[in-house]
Amino acid sequence: MFRSVNPATGEEIATYPELTPAGLEARVAKAAAAFRHWRTTSYEERTALLSRVADRFEAEKARLARMASLEMGKTYATSIAEVEKCVAGFRVFAKDGPAMLEPQQQALATGGTAELHWLPIGPVLAVMPWNFPYWQVVRFLAPTIMAGNVGLLKHASIVQGVAGLIEEMVTSAGAPEGLFQNLAIKSGAVAELIADDRVAAVTLTGSEGAGQSVAQAAGKALKKVVLELGGSDPFIVMPSADLDEAVKQGVKARIQNTGQSCICAKRMIVHADVYDAFLDRFSAAMKAVKAGDPFDPNTDMGPLSSAEQRDTVLKQLDEAKAVGATLAFGGDRLDGPGAFLSAGVITDVPLDSALMAEEIFGPIAMVFRAADLDDAIRIANDIPFGLGSSVWTSEPAEQERFVRDIEAGMTAVNQMLASAPEAPFGGIKRSGYGRELSRYGLHEFMNLKTVMRVKDAPLGSRTDALD
Ligand code: NAP
Repeated sequence: MFRSVNPATGEEIATYPELTPAGLEARVAKAAAAFRHWRTTSYEERTALLSRVADRFEAEKARLARMASLEMGKTYATSIAEVEKCVAGFRVFAKDGPAMLEPQQQALATGGTAELHWLPIGPVLAVMPWNFPYWQVVRFLAPTIMAGNVGLLKHASIVQGVAGLIEEMVTSAGAPEGLFQNLAIKSGAVAELIADDRVAAVTLTGSEGAGQSVAQAAGKALKKVVLELGGSDPFIVMPSADLDEAVKQGVKARIQNTGQSCICAKRMIVHADVYDAFLDRFSAAMKAVKAGDPFDPNTDMGPLSSAEQRDTVLKQLDEAKAVGATLAFGGDRLDGPGAFLSAGVITDVPLDSALMAEEIFGPIAMVFRAADLDDAIRIANDIPFGLGSSVWTSEPAEQERFVRDIEAGMTAVNQMLASAPEAPFGGIKRSGYGRELSRYGLHEFMNLKTVMRVKDAPLGSRTDALD
């Protein structure tokens, strides 16, 4: 059984039954059957479905957003924005998908050409987290539909209400039976599912531990896997930066989703010349962040997604203090039954401490002083992760150094990093591998087929050429 608990109140919202082994088998069989049909559909049918799913999300925006805020605590305004982003995501793949799958011609030095065709591969299993409970799924679902694949979702245990609503949206948009199904299963059932011959590939967004388990099972079954794992993104501020904007965006980038985004700015790395000025202003703005009821429009951030998640962050703060870091302020557990934590700042974290290899998934910023540009890059790269990054400087030469030398899948210059349906999203190092979104994300789970064809030959001799 799954329990959905409102993290703002500690109250149970609903329970959901776990899928029985027979129920799971029936759903996997349905997926395999759906693929036999969906793989043959035209691009027009696929894009029409994507548009109808977008329409359904748009029409049900308020109901969908409410469920996300209730189940994992994000503010209602940001839940609405997330659903709107999903609508945009479906529409981008509906509009641009056919062009992304256009066969290409490759001239051969030996004469003639090879054609490159993108073909679907089968049911794709998605193991997804709770932090952006709709958007994370849409990042896999929209390309799945466009590719001609079918989708199976194992969503995070705490957002089963959201998982059911996504299935409802796709079904009510007129998708063929089995095209997209929610599997209410526990994580222990995932490895066996990956081994199932009817599952073609797997994509996981989540923690390193989950990534290791899924990659291991996929490796054993020799199946393609994409991993979108954690990060501890640097946010580098240089003397030439617009400090007002850097402070404003830095706070937003740290507290968005109550600090529970893989691409939150988790480490503010500030040049010594502006360190004090930045720290003063950043601290004042962090202290002003209002934690509270996700449905109150004046709330800046809701609770953490669960009491367990809040306790993990509190433990990390103890860990930081134990290694000599300074908790300047914040990180206070707020009174009441909700999983609230105040926004905080830590300074003086030793670069060789274990904390540097961890992700703080809560509204706590670590602030570091960098002696110069090289030092900033050294601190930024001195972690096992390589997901996103944000750099603040008006010097073009510094911008190019950061673009070239920061070890990350994404770098934002003078802006906060955010995902976009048209731009590849993903990391390097222990942040995972593969890309989501854009044509690159669409191509991850497709068969790039090379076709050699005798051109201008009569049909009969084409058959000979294939032998
Ligand atoms: P999580 O605990 O790893 O869970 C993610 C998903 O994996 C859930 O569906 C979970 O199921 C499942 N899972 C957990 N352990 C598993 C295992 N051993 N085998 C198979 N499945 C397993 O992560 P989370 O706490 O939900 O999400 C936060 C993490 O996701 C953070 O590390 C964050 O940085 C990362 N994230 C990364 C990106 C990105 O694009 N790189 C985006 C968003 C989030 P249960 O819920 O049932 O345990």
